[in-house]
Amino acid sequence: MYYKSTRDSSVCVSSAQAIAQGISKDGGLFVPSELPKLKLEEIISLGDKTYPERAAFIFSKFLTDFTEAEIRYCTDNAYTDKAFDTENICEIAHLFDGTYMLELWHGPTCAFKDMALQILPYLITTSAKKINLDKKVVILVATSGDTGKAALEGFKDVEGTEIMVFYPDDGVSAMQKKQMTTQEGENVGVCAIKGNFDDAQNGVKAIFTDESVVDALSQSGKMFSSANSINWGRLAPQIIYYVSSYAQLVKDGEINAGDKINIVVPTGNFGNILAAYYAKQMGVPVNKLICASNSNNVLTDFLQTGVYDRNRKFYTTISPSMDILISSNLERLLYHLSGDNDKLIREWFESLKQTGRYEVTADVFEKIKNDFCAGYCNDDETKDLIKRVFDKYSYLCDTHTAVAVKVYEDYVEKTGDKTKTLIASTANPYKFSSSVLSALGEYDENLDEFELVEKLNQVSKMSVPKSLAELKDKQVRFTQIIDKDDMKEFVLSALA
Ligand SMILES: *Cc1c(COP(=O)(O)O)cnc(C)c1O
Repeated sequence: MYYKSTRDSSVCVSSAQAIAQGISKDGGLFVPSELPKLKLEEIISLGDKTYPERAAFIFSKFLTDFTEAEIRYCTDNAYTDKAFDTENICEIAHLFDGTYMLELWHGPTCAFKDMALQILPYLITTSAKKINLDKKVVILVATSGDTGKAALEGFKDVEGTEIMVFYPDDGVSAMQKKQMTTQEGENVGVCAIKGNFDDAQNGVKAIFTDESVVDALSQSGKMFSSANSINWGRLAPQIIYYVSSYAQLVKDGEINAGDKINIVVPTGNFGNILAAYYAKQMGVPVNKLICASNSNNVLTDFLQTGVYDRNRKFYTTISPSMDILISSNLERLLYHLSGDNDKLIREWFESLKQTGRYEVTADVFEKIKNDFCAGYCNDDETKDLIKRVFDKYSYLCDTHTAVAVKVYEDYVEKTGDKTKTLIASTANPYKFSSSVLSALGEYDENLDEFELVEKLNQVSKMSVPKSLAELKDKQVRFTQIIDKDDMKEFVLSALA
């Protein structure tokens, strides 16, 4: 197994190279040269294994240049009940008959990003060793909230790494700010910038490609890598929980071996749903992949028309991790569906850059329609769904998960499809306490972020995740706020 670039099919690197490097030099994303096929019996037999064992099995198909011991080192260090609040690492809850919630938020930061970011540091450091990169790996992250904290928790005190996170001072929730500014670990840095998320993101991108910074870092024995979902090392771990869940549903007697299921995913960058697509291609019996968006519905339109057009209003919603108009991982899907046609991909993504729009060929669109359905809902519908589901099933959804459940409801109403369905639940509702309380009609503007958590606990009786409750008494370690133009100097003085 080797990895190609979506923008140059002649690129051919090992998984270690793809993971350490993050993105191909031509700007393309690394994709596996072929997808490993699993037999149904192999999938089912995972039901008797622990999560780290299931993970090691799937990784062994993709990271063929890693030894078994190297893979086990990564999976056994990442997926522990020290970091996750359940030995199962993720849980499957029953919403109603034949509808299952795949809870991916049992990790240290209460969002699904932990599923990949807990293991990525081990994958990156192991990869760096394998290709004899004798350098310390420096991770730079610009975040609008969830990714930054998950990356900090993942890389904290991992030998051979350092991490620096920039967030927009006015652009994250009070809880998210508290999560980041109290971060523990000897190799971490957190800095607020005066500006918005785009300023932070542009600043980080500029530093990544600034030769003077790269040289200075290199002289101190360090190099940059990426913890963002363009890195294959973030996508591969996400395939695991879809394969694993199928095995679990069979083991629990919820479905018969070979039965098809639908998978619904609340989507932003198209990473999590692409992982479900890969699981299907590998042999997991899947009927439809249902892509759920909020008011930033660029993907809904694309999957329904074959035209991607980002020239539209940008909405700030109550599901902020899905407020995205450029879904980077779609490039990987289109590469596969076009028959590895790097020329077409270059054309489309150049057009996206120049005009904000591209249209796929009829042949590719046909294939998209076979696998995918799509829908979206706005903030009012999201809140209404949270309240209805809580009242009816006593199940509390966060704002992102609620988008998925609502889109699924609409799908069933429209199609009458009775296929059993797995819905990706991507965040713990306590992470978005104010929006969830407001949905339940219980929001009180006089309460601070921790009082809101207490209030939600009284209303819902759902237990508060320890990692959020503990924040209240944690010391704030990082208070620096800098101008967006000073990011480069900041990185140089902190790291080089
Ligand atoms: C990141 C995120 C998403 C979107 O996932 P993608 O892989 O970007 O599609 C959805 N929900 C939550 C809570 C997230 O943090």
